[in-house]
Amino acid sequence: MGNLRMLDLDKIALAGAALDNGALDSIEAAFAHPSAVPNKPDTSDLYESGPVPHPTRKKLAVVTCMDARIDPLAFAQLPLEVGDAHIIRNAGGRAADAVRSLIASQRLLGTRIIYVIHHTDCGMASFRDEELRRILGGGAMVETMAFLPFCNYQQAVIDDVQFLRDHPLIMSERVRGYIYDVVTGSLTEVKV
Ligand SMILES: [Zn+2]
Repeated sequence: MGNLRMLDLDKIALAGAALDNGALDSIEAAFAHPSAVPNKPDTSDLYESGPVPHPTRKKLAVVTCMDARIDPLAFAQLPLEVGDAHIIRNAGGRAADAVRSLIASQRLLGTRIIYVIHHTDCGMASFRDEELRRILGGGAMVETMAFLPFCNYQQAVIDDVQFLRDHPLIMSERVRGYIYDVVTGSLTEVKV
């Protein structure tokens, strides 16, 4: 289930630092002209039949990773459309980082089902807290900061489902965990 692959953090940091303002300006300039982007999905008819209702249709909140390869509306075994679910994304799809949004999703907007969906080849399985603290230069602020990396894919899902089931502010009757395979596109439930 996804080999652990360590990122070369220093190389990535150097590549990021090497991007000059001109390069970033041209990336942002393209955002202003989305029609110029090939294969951009046409969403112009999305609101044709009226506004999408505010509370979710399927009473579902999905917690998943921010990974750019994931389209939560395209999970093959979880057919979702705009308006069906809240999609809460963060690095790793970690539950502890999603609590604030889940409380709002449940108490203010009526969701009752939570799916935690991690994925294979996740960047959060490629470093340890100490390494990111080193990149940030250390200091009191980062020493107490938990970046929530993990080293075991199955266990991370189990931990997050359990965390939500045990959380006193989360309505946790229906919390499930899955791992999404970024190569095959399949979702595998992790029984907790
Ligand atoms: Zn990830």
